[in-house]
Amino acid sequence: MSAEAPLALDRVHVMQPWLGEEEVAAVAEVLRSGWVAQGPRVAAFEAAFARDQRVPHARAVSSCTAALHLALLVAGVRPGDDVVVPSFSFVATANAAVHAAARPVFADVDPATGNLTAATVERALTPRTRAVVLVDQGGVPADLAEVRALCDPRGIVVVEDAACAAGSTYRGAPVGAGADVSAWSFHPRKVLTTGEGGMLTTPHEGWAVRAGRLREHAMSVSAAERHTSVLAPPEEYGEVGFNYRMTDLQAAVGLVQLGRLPEAVRRRRELAARYAAGLADVPGLRAVADPAYGTSNFQSYWVEVQPAYPLDREGLMAALAGAGISARRGIMAIHRQPAYADAGVRPGSLPVTERLTDRTVILPLFHELTTAQQDRVLDVLVRAGRH
Ligand SMILES: *Cc1c(COP(=O)(O)O)cnc(C)c1O
Repeated sequence: MSAEAPLALDRVHVMQPWLGEEEVAAVAEVLRSGWVAQGPRVAAFEAAFARDQRVPHARAVSSCTAALHLALLVAGVRPGDDVVVPSFSFVATANAAVHAAARPVFADVDPATGNLTAATVERALTPRTRAVVLVDQGGVPADLAEVRALCDPRGIVVVEDAACAAGSTYRGAPVGAGADVSAWSFHPRKVLTTGEGGMLTTPHEGWAVRAGRLREHAMSVSAAERHTSVLAPPEEYGEVGFNYRMTDLQAAVGLVQLGRLPEAVRRRRELAARYAAGLADVPGLRAVADPAYGTSNFQSYWVEVQPAYPLDREGLMAALAGAGISARRGIMAIHRQPAYADAGVRPGSLPVTERLTDRTVILPLFHELTTAQQDRVLDVLVRAGRH
């Protein structure tokens, strides 16, 4: 290593899960119990998650993608239906519609929040629209009420993709609490992690029961029920299901992580407020912020690099990299991916999505980020802004 590269010794990562000895102990306990697949820990995690998110029913699954797929199925999406989704999202949002044999129809997003709005959804509706997947992008809550006001009278179900949003709030309640069905992710990139994992929440008992069956090969009697009965009842398979189960090992981690969620969100919001204060006087950098109607968990803290800033997005990323700081290009535009080349998006029809995806940078923000590390990031942003 050259003598001129001292910063390489303490690189600032862009994200890092917050895991500790409590999670280790919880996993060890499950291993010793002898029951490692979906069982009592999954049931306990579902109950605790439902209580904290203020939703009547929760079913744990293997990923948010699985939860979105099941959400669309229980919401009644049929092959050939249209499902409105943002292009400004992780690719799984659109993939879930394809998994349900539906056609994703891409809608543009609000420039401030990066989320769908009633106006952008309305422009994407077709006679075959059966559902809208409303994403709380990066943890910023979407305006569910206005989208539901558009969709409810038309019989269109709003599925909330709350993958990023555990700990975010909407009009004083946890996000997802007002949706017909919501999907959550526990991938290590999210604020609450189980390694891999997801959750489906819904106020509709019938939807929860069906999702719970579909995740387990659509078996009429769960594996846990069969195991605990001496004379196992015969099971039946009423439809074609999936193996989307979460394991008790994951759920044990999830229970610990759920208990830490308020503290995790408090710290992220504190770091986000420090970024906002440090960037307030830098022309040409617009930072993500809470909308008027809710609060973000700041899972992703992004800035939009506008023309008034001396560097463009790539230039700013290079400056950060030169200072040993990892940043990421902002949220992707799904319609630009080769997998969606045939999706029929007219060039220029998603201008806000294209602008945000080309100009945003995700800055380091994670629980154990120190204020000294954060000041290094701010120093690069502020100094580069002066030239
Ligand atoms: C992460 C993410 C997903 C996918 O979550 P998995 O648990 O990895 O399947 C879906 N939608 C959005 C908006 C995401 O950020």
